[in-house]
Amino acid sequence: MSSHSARISSTLKGAYEDVLRRNPGEHEFHQSVDEVLGSLGPVVERHPHYVDERVIERLCEPERQIIFRVPWTDDSGKVQINRGFRVEYSSALGPYKGGLRFHPSVLLGTVKFLGFEQIFKNALTGLPIGGGKGGSDFDPKGRSDAEVMRFCQSFMTELYRHLGEYTDVPAGDIGVGGREIGYLFGQYKRITNRYEAGVLTGKGLTWGGSQARTEATGYGTVYFANEMAKHVDRSLDGQRVVVSGSGNVAIYAIEKASEMGGTVVACSDSSGYVVDEAGIDVQLLRDIKEVRRGRIIEYAEARAGNVSFVERGSVWDVPCDVAMPCATQNELDEAAATTLIRNGVQIVAEGANMPSTQGAVRAFQQAGVLFGPGKAANAGGVATSSLEMQQNASRDSWSFERTDERLGEIMRNIHESVVTTAEDYDRPGDYVFGANAAGFTRVADAMLAMGVI
Ligand code: GLU
Repeated sequence: MSSHSARISSTLKGAYEDVLRRNPGEHEFHQSVDEVLGSLGPVVERHPHYVDERVIERLCEPERQIIFRVPWTDDSGKVQINRGFRVEYSSALGPYKGGLRFHPSVLLGTVKFLGFEQIFKNALTGLPIGGGKGGSDFDPKGRSDAEVMRFCQSFMTELYRHLGEYTDVPAGDIGVGGREIGYLFGQYKRITNRYEAGVLTGKGLTWGGSQARTEATGYGTVYFANEMAKHVDRSLDGQRVVVSGSGNVAIYAIEKASEMGGTVVACSDSSGYVVDEAGIDVQLLRDIKEVRRGRIIEYAEARAGNVSFVERGSVWDVPCDVAMPCATQNELDEAAATTLIRNGVQIVAEGANMPSTQGAVRAFQQAGVLFGPGKAANAGGVATSSLEMQQNASRDSWSFERTDERLGEIMRNIHESVVTTAEDYDRPGDYVFGANAAGFTRVADAMLAMGVI
């Protein structure tokens, strides 16, 4: 790991070196800070007071970091111990907002990288939400519903004291879907004796959830990709699309991309990928992944003969016009980017958080591929969470059409603000710069207005 990125301007190098020194070993966190600070040189040059007021150093330090023990008993009666996290990163624009990730790979540094990304993503939505993230190294895979429930109850028994609709509002992320949010909300309600619907988002439709929240991250990523295409007089219609992953984000990205005339020919999970030249059958995929919680090979088996399953291999070997990484961080490296470029990829829109390594991003940009970073392209999920909070606060429930319409409008606005910010700084077409500069400026101005807190 190099001591600092070559792209970070000399004014910001000290801030970045402090982050490295004070957060040793947290490579994903370093990467996410590097990526943002690498864009901010021209911004602080134009607004030197951000440097004078040490806004960047302040932003790199989370407002609060909570780490706790989560003890629970498995079905065999054995005591299990996991670690719980909530990093309340920035409340400049609203209550801390961001998901919970349950995955064995989760460390404090993982949560910090996700929380840091979330600040700027949430700012880009233009909605009143701050940034935070949480989770645990608990692995829900292979656990019974009763085990997941006991884990969630123990997790919430500690976390509840830090939450509130005006304080901190978690939601789902990898490993946390409707089932987990249900158990978490139930325990919060029981402990507090309050039906405080706005304390969690991603709730079920009959108990305070919002229409279109389940679909929102995937749909939003496709709406964003569509705006990128329109911006260069193209469209998704007739395009060959590859989506990585097969979880919540991937499923609804596949559904919307197909609806818009694209053919999604491949998707994946951690065991390998499938290629279906006729276009992925999203109902079948959903049944295997969401209902049966099975492996992707079952998709190939069910489509007997017409679909190939490639064990372990990289889904990015499959040629496409549009690539949507919707699995996890650093899943698309420079070698994969080079293959995609050689195979003629035109647009990359990130449905996951930081799925492309910095080498991959550089390769796409140098090759003239339109690259939409996750903090802009996948903001539809958290934006719709904010719409869920809005419905909860007004004790209302909107139709699917109204919510989806609002989501589309928010994604168009994000695209517009990213593109105009990039143009304003003479970096036309640089979505990474536009997203970082636009998101940062909103948070920084709010922080300055509120003084040193
Ligand atoms: N985990 C999602 C994200 O990365 C959603 C967060 C939320 O809805 O609060 O943005």
